[in-house]
Amino acid sequence: MSEPSRIIVALDLPSRKQALQLVDKLHGAASFFKVGAQLFTEAGPPLVDELKKRDKRVFLDLKFHDIPNTVAGAVRAAAAMGVDMLTVHASGGAAMLAAAGEAAGEHAGEDGPAVVAVTLLTSLSAEDVEHVFGHVPDSLVDEVVRLAGLAAEAGLPGVVASKTEVKPIKRRYGEGLLVVTPGIRLPEEDPADQRRYATPKAAAEAGADYVVVGRSITSAQDPVAALAAVQASFASGRPSG
Ligand code: C5P
Repeated sequence: MSEPSRIIVALDLPSRKQALQLVDKLHGAASFFKVGAQLFTEAGPPLVDELKKRDKRVFLDLKFHDIPNTVAGAVRAAAAMGVDMLTVHASGGAAMLAAAGEAAGEHAGEDGPAVVAVTLLTSLSAEDVEHVFGHVPDSLVDEVVRLAGLAAEAGLPGVVASKTEVKPIKRRYGEGLLVVTPGIRLPEEDPADQRRYATPKAAAEAGADYVVVGRSITSAQDPVAALAAVQASFASGRPSG
């Protein structure tokens, strides 16, 4: 059985018009959409409103990384827009992560958005990590698990991590910590700038709770067929699939 709600379609598109065209084309097949920096900068909160009017779940992926007070304010603003999930950078530190979690929990009368922490961007290789942080990590997996620990200790509900890190994270912090996995490609597709990528099936087998899929769907000749292929692949990797 396909599980559309476990597939988050990344609306990495340059305009509100193109984003809503895709949403409407996928109508009925996709219920969870990610709005990232490009689209949100272009289309802003009215686009989130349009998605909510269409009864879609919204993942606001702005990867907040600032002082705790500023991030808390941004999380409150996102909660007020009705987003269902949002990202912060785990490397923002324990106080920032705790402030984000508290701000999400304050949303009156209903559940706030799930705050998930980005560990390492899936476009980064071990070499890139060395360039950025100035040290060679023992392994990328260890680095991601360590960063996931900051989120778990701050009481956040989940993290963003690639397929390879899902099992080590769950082993260390428990099945309850959600893992959202981007860097998804259908078999034989060009990975483009993703260094750590996997098929939907492999991500599901590893235990990913959600997969984020962008270009495999947004750049496909037939996005409806591409989404169906992603859903079938993911479902085939789930324990019950
Ligand atoms: O097009 P593609 O499927 O590679 O898009 C992946 C999406 O997941 C992008 O929107 C990107 O911002 C996001 N992402 C990522 N790596 C992370 C966190 C988010 O690729 N660690």
